[in-house]
Amino acid sequence: MSSDTDHSPHTRATELAALAERAASCTQCELAATRTTVVFGAGDADASVVIVGEGPGKNEDEQGLPFVGRSGALLDRLLGEIRLARDDVYIANVVKCRPPSNRDPRPAEIDACKPYLRQQLVLIDPVVVVTLGNFSSKLLLTTDIGITKLRGQAYPWWGRHLVPTFHPAAALRGSARVLEAMREDFTCIRRILDDTESNKMRGTEPRSSNDRETEQADPEQLDLF
Ligand code: SF4
Repeated sequence: MSSDTDHSPHTRATELAALAERAASCTQCELAATRTTVVFGAGDADASVVIVGEGPGKNEDEQGLPFVGRSGALLDRLLGEIRLARDDVYIANVVKCRPPSNRDPRPAEIDACKPYLRQQLVLIDPVVVVTLGNFSSKLLLTTDIGITKLRGQAYPWWGRHLVPTFHPAAALRGSARVLEAMREDFTCIRRILDDTESNKMRGTEPRSSNDRETEQADPEQLDLF
């Protein structure tokens, strides 16, 4: 992605809405047969932070919104601790339809669905992408390394930053250590946002190793993942 993306906030919101409308009737993979609602994503089209989870669960499938229920409440709490509200960020998933019985999404389903996520990221063009859990972290970082090893640092990602962390469901199931690790990762998000803001005020936006590559490229054409 590039900081030179020419999507105005209004255009972003309009294009996201058009993409959501397309997804609403999508039958590109077999998850279409069992879903109640396509959970496209929700939040600010002009957000500095995009959060990417795995896929909708039962409540999300029924309500058409990402991260409702206990995982959503924990996510809201962690965001609040770094002075962000849900409305300040954009939340999406790797697959937009619920895998039956909450099974893992299959590779063919992820492949079929990823153009939607790719387009969401290109349109919103955030400062930080936060991946929750193994599926989104491995997909966006194109790695087989698990989240336990990946987390704990920010990665340069197409001229932006990617912060992988545990899925809130893992913190709800797991020990206090998982939650503590998530808090550290969310603190890292806050630090990146603050650094970006103060660099903007000084007129020196941070440069990452990928910038040279992305400056020359049309962000719509980038092979993000
Ligand atoms: S999961 Fe994605 S690709 Fe599959 S039917 Fe739903 S929107 Fe389409």
